[in-house]
Amino acid sequence: MSNEETLFSKIVKGEIPADILFQDDRVTAFRDINPQAPTHILIIPNKIIPTVNDIGETDEALIGYMFIVARNLAKEEGIAEDGYRLLINCGSHGHQEVYHLHMHLVGGRPLGRMLKG
Ligand code: AMP
Repeated sequence: MSNEETLFSKIVKGEIPADILFQDDRVTAFRDINPQAPTHILIIPNKIIPTVNDIGETDEALIGYMFIVARNLAKEEGIAEDGYRLLINCGSHGHQEVYHLHMHLVGGRPLGRMLKG
């Protein structure tokens, strides 16, 4: 685990403002500043894991818990029944911009097929 601050770790600590929808001792979820759909939420571990490549064996429960939080938020946003997309970008080919692991929860409209670009 890196000790360096990230944009998102500053959001976790409340040092940078964000529209936080959920936070506990493990995970924080907030609205994406540049939403790609009516619902676009980022779900992040509070601790800094830079990329999927850096997920450790001991993070298994934490990563599973991110899905539970995503599921709950989808219900709260009213998009669970119609469906939505969860995605995690990794590294330069994955077009990851912020090196603090985050799961995108995107929905509220038909999203089309993946990988158009
Ligand atoms: P990725 O390309 O997967 O690394 O996604 C990074 C996401 O973070 C993008 O969708 C950005 O719009 C979003 N983002 C960047 N800065 C902020 C911020 N301060 N608050 C909320 N979302 C942000």
